[in-house]
Amino acid sequence: MIPVEVMRQAQQEFLDWNGMGVSVMEISHRSKEFKVIAEESKQDCRELLNISDDYEILFLHGGARSQFAMIPMNLMGDNKKAAYMQTGIWSELAVKEASRYCQPDIVVHGDATHYRSIPEPKAWGDFSNAAYLYYVDNETVHGIEFPYVPDSGDVPLVCDMSSNIMSRLVDVSKFGLIFACAQKNLGQAGITLVIIRKDLLKRKKMPFTPSMFDYALQAENDSMLNTSPTYSWYMLGLVLKWLKKQGGLTAMAERNNRKAKKLYDFIDQHDFYSNPVEKAFRSRMNVVFNLADKTLEERFLKEAKAAGMMGLEGHRYVGGMRASIYNAMPEEGVDMLIDFMKTFSERAA
Ligand SMILES: *Cc1c(COP(=O)(O)O)cnc(C)c1O
Repeated sequence: MIPVEVMRQAQQEFLDWNGMGVSVMEISHRSKEFKVIAEESKQDCRELLNISDDYEILFLHGGARSQFAMIPMNLMGDNKKAAYMQTGIWSELAVKEASRYCQPDIVVHGDATHYRSIPEPKAWGDFSNAAYLYYVDNETVHGIEFPYVPDSGDVPLVCDMSSNIMSRLVDVSKFGLIFACAQKNLGQAGITLVIIRKDLLKRKKMPFTPSMFDYALQAENDSMLNTSPTYSWYMLGLVLKWLKKQGGLTAMAERNNRKAKKLYDFIDQHDFYSNPVEKAFRSRMNVVFNLADKTLEERFLKEAKAAGMMGLEGHRYVGGMRASIYNAMPEEGVDMLIDFMKTFSERAA
């Protein structure tokens, strides 16, 4: 979801942005007017996540998956090994992509538990000689989330926060690089936020790294090496302002915790539904659940859709159901789903 207030504002100024008599889509990304959007979104990210000047903030094309390649290309230096925690589908795909450019060493295998929990730190393999340690903070498909920031020692910690960025405050100083596509918590598809510690920009790149994939070059050019996805950037800027108006990330975290707790509590109290994830690792963003009677799933989805609730089918990799309750999902949306789940279980039982 995108906050309704944000979409209303975008609608209202669609044809006439900033009193210019044209759409924001029609102006140059290099115009002084657009530069205000670019500067303010950087500043708002800094404020919301408390990001120090030791970090560069980039807004890039290519979605989260381009980062799967950019990270090894830019961060391997002369090292051959990179360490990966494999805790779900998105980290699996990142390992697969990285293996085209380096030797990804899987130091944490979550698949022993079918991605229902995360092994404890003492069971992790040695990563002390790796170029970086990579993990996915929230595995969107399996509905599991790290309840803590992994301690990576001196090894730069690289994190895919695509599906939980800005859902709570994190200590950015613990990370070497954080990235997130916009379309889950920051607006619409087409732009990806990258927060990178400045010293990492100096690492030797792989010689074939395309200029568009070069973090240092993008940083030097204020993320405008070529034409930026201006409308996605504009929407992202509006979402950041909306987040600030909500009271920032402390307020968002409280709201997100409340939403998730309500839904998990309901599932736990009704045998008709179940959630497979170990409690400590349950995602606050993606609540996966199954019906005790699988044959009712199709009917569940159909009736939910008729009641105005879309997108509840689980990811094609895992099936079942998944309620994605990102930042912009209001608490009433969760209440509505719980009401529906309750009456459905009564009707279908
Ligand atoms: C959605 C998602 C991606 C993929 O994002 P794209 O922008 O489609 O490449 C990667 N990682 C995680 C954790 C995601 O949730």
